[in-house]
Parts: sequence; structure tokens; C-alpha cells
Amino acid sequence: MKKNLPALLLLTSISTLTGFTQADVAKVNAEAMQGQTPKTSVYTPDNSEIEYLVLNDTAIIMGDIAVGSQQEIQSKGISTLEVKDFDQLNTLSDELTAKAAWAGATTWPNSVVPFVIDASSQPDAAVIRAGMDLIASQTGVRFVQRNNQTNYLRIFKGQGCWSFIGRKGGQQNLSIGPGCAWKKTVAHELMHALGFLHEQSRADRDNFVRINYNNIQDGRAGQFNKKGPITTSVGSYDYHSVMHYGHKAFSKNGKPTIVSLDPNIPNQQLGKSNGLTNKDIAAIRNKYGSGNASPLTAFENCDFTGWSAKIPEGHHNLKFLKTKGFVNDQMSHLKLHLDGEFACIKMWDGAETTLKL
Ligand SMILES: [Zn+2]
Repeated sequence: MKKNLPALLLLTSISTLTGFTQADVAKVNAEAMQGQTPKTSVYTPDNSEIEYLVLNDTAIIMGDIAVGSQQEIQSKGISTLEVKDFDQLNTLSDELTAKAAWAGATTWPNSVVPFVIDASSQPDAAVIRAGMDLIASQTGVRFVQRNNQTNYLRIFKGQGCWSFIGRKGGQQNLSIGPGCAWKKTVAHELMHALGFLHEQSRADRDNFVRINYNNIQDGRAGQFNKKGPITTSVGSYDYHSVMHYGHKAFSKNGKPTIVSLDPNIPNQQLGKSNGLTNKDIAAIRNKYGSGNASPLTAFENCDFTGWSAKIPEGHHNLKFLKTKGFVNDQMSHLKLHLDGEFACIKMWDGAETTLKL
């Protein structure tokens, strides 16, 4: 069935710094955590030991995920990694999203996320808002300046880049520290706040990547934990997700710590994408709706080879949204030219969106 007004979006070159560059969160945080010996706490669902590091007196696991103040987690341990749907608290177990989650936390009601930008982050406010727009322009999530809401994000310039998972309740900090002020990095941390964990923390990750423990910095192996029981993985593994770490995360010797097991996905591509991936968007929409953005068809079989992309079968009535470069529709292929540089294409099937390059 053809749909009306499908749109094609062109996303910018990956070879230039056109705005989708991302801080290497693991690298930034590894530096911020330098010299620290990991501490341990108890992961309460199964009483296992869990290692954490400390930034801004906040316990950090899995590289950049805040789980509470040191005092809190030393007295109470670390509770289940599960985010409950705010509206479906009674039917939660099968309602989790593609990525994974954290309890004691919920999704944000009505898809509205109130925030304040702390004075320390004012110089980065434009980038922070751009990171918000990256999510809000493609999903139903709305970031609103806090008025008097009880539950909200406080975005500040702390040590490194980190966030809590899901809506924790009350004021919750999210750090966009030195080196973190890139819109994709902001979007990464905001996705944590929306309830998503890292792609490489999925319970099924070992089918897709191998963790090279020999190359991980001393005392940082715990940052590669997958919390099997707490993750619900829906949809196929997304190597390019903004929630996937790069292949040299926490490397001590410049060699890969995360290796792709898919021969078609080089290590260098891990976590690399132009903005959010289709699957990132689909995951957020799954929890927060699509808002005014067009319905997304994840053209997962799209064959990106250099300059052209194959249009999946059944989608011929494409409308192109182009603000840069030009597109040739060659029956079943699209050819994209973008200032002579390699570029990637993303397609949305549905109403025209207001997304821009
Ligand atoms: Zn993260």
C-alpha cells in the first residue's frame, strides 16, 4: 500500500563537522574519572556486586549513567534497572522499550520533559537546545522550560557527561560537562533521561559485539556490564545507535574494546550515525509517540552504498524534502549528491515533516 506524501530526508555528510559530531562520552568520562579506583555497591534485585565511579559526588555506572549520590547507594544499594511506563504502571513488564531501563523511574507523563539550564551551562545553551530539538523534531517528546513542575531535569556543567535513567522524580541532574557540548551527545544523555540504556548493555549484545576485556583500562571493566535481567530488547540490534559506545570506549592501549561481530559493520561505525538512527527514533516514538512528526518507516533494508540507496519494495511514491544538494529518483534507486561528499540518506514514509538538514 502506498502512503501519501512520503518524504525523504537528507542528512548531512559524515565526513564533515556539520553539527552531528558527538563527543566520545567514554573518553571524556574516562578522563574525568582518571585515577579513581572503582567502588562497589549492591545491585539489589539479585544482590550482586556492582562497581561504580564517582563524578560530582554521584555514582556512575556503565560509563555515564547516574544511579544516585554515593551516600544513597551506600545505604540503599542500587535498585532495578527498569523504567516503568508512567501510564501503565500496572502492566509494566512487557511494556519496556527497545533499549532497556531503570526503575524507581518512569517515563515522562504526556511526553513532556520540563528542564532548567543551570547558569553553569548557559554558554552551551544553544547546543543543549539543539540536542533537544534533535529528539523533539522527530518524536512526540516535548522539552519545556520548567515553570513550577515538581519533576524536571537540571542541566548543568558538571564533571563529564552523565544522566540518570528515566524520570527519577524531583530535580534530577544531567551533566553536560567540558567536552560534552555537542548536540548528539546532548541527545544521548537526554535519551538516558527518557529511559534508555546503552545499546551495548542489551541482554543480547554478545550476539552482536564482543567486549575485549584485555584492552579496557584497569578498573573500568565494570563499565561494560550488561544487566541481563533488567533489559528488554525489542527490535534488532542497532550498531549505529546514538546509544552505542564507540569501539575504543575506555581503551587503555588504543585498541578496540568493542568489536563488531557483523562483517558488514566495521568497528569504526559503532555508535556512528548522522543524528538519531531510525531505530533510535522508533524506540523513542514507541514510548513517547510521534507528535507532529511524520510516521516513520524504518527502512531497515535500505542498502546504503556510497552515493545511492535502494528504495525498499513497495515504496515508490516518494517525495523528497531537500534543502541542500539534489536528488535523482532513478526508479528504484535514489542518488544523492551533497557538495561532492559522501552522504547518507534517511527516508521517512508519511506526511512531510518539518525536519531540516
Ligand atoms: Zn550513555
